[in-house]
Amino acid sequence: MLEIRNLVCRYGKVTAIKGISLKVPEKQLVVLVGANGAGKSTTLRAVSGLVPAASGQIIFDGTDITGLSPSRILALGIAHCPEGRRVFPYMTVIENLEMGCYLRSDTKEIAADMDRIFGLFPRLAERRRQVAGTLSGGEQQMLAIGRSLMSRPKLVMFDEPSLGLAPNIVEQTFDIIRGIRASGTTVLMVEQNAYAALDMCDYAYLLEAGTMPLEGTGEKLINDPHVREAYLGAGMAHA
Ligand code: ATP
Repeated sequence: MLEIRNLVCRYGKVTAIKGISLKVPEKQLVVLVGANGAGKSTTLRAVSGLVPAASGQIIFDGTDITGLSPSRILALGIAHCPEGRRVFPYMTVIENLEMGCYLRSDTKEIAADMDRIFGLFPRLAERRRQVAGTLSGGEQQMLAIGRSLMSRPKLVMFDEPSLGLAPNIVEQTFDIIRGIRASGTTVLMVEQNAYAALDMCDYAYLLEAGTMPLEGTGEKLINDPHVREAYLGAGMAHA
């Protein structure tokens, strides 16, 4: 469904991504793990068209999307749930969800999708007319996830969905992402909580300083000595 081939991305003189390749097959959950600054967010931003590719290709559903605008890429079916739950703080829950589908005009279907999101997140339903800035961190994350689903994406990308959330909310967030995959939506997720991410994925890539030294099933990475030492310190007790 999504294929990245030899992607290079630069910020001025800094080469953040140094020729990586990866595949996200349809209906699978693929994760990118790695340290801060490894290039995980940049990879997602490149897929969304927010960061240009210096070289390489990004192919989605057989179409070369390299260099297309973010709105064109969204229209093709790729949604991006960015790091830090960037909801619109002065807009209500409903207005935030509407922003997720600004390209759509099928009013009835939009209303049905919004009801579906409210079914998934009852707390948001209760707070539908509240401005997003007054929601708790967990509720804002749910809203960011809900907003990304409003475009009916074929592929949804989550950037650090667990960041800054209380442990019980983290578990709930991962459950929702598992549910999104189970409903047939393809997922590409960046996550620093490496153990949880590797445990729930179909396939994983390790990013280190803009390169991809290792890939495989979550189980393979969980059992890799380098991954265990460098990234699973806190997760060893579960392994
Ligand atoms: P994090 O989890 O901290 O977001 P990451 O793996 O997602 O880390 P990126 O945010 O993709 O990493 O950053 C990759 C590299 O690019 C880092 O060296 C970072 O300092 C650099 N970088 C990221 N954004 C910019 C920017 N807007 N301008 C300049 N350099 C940037």
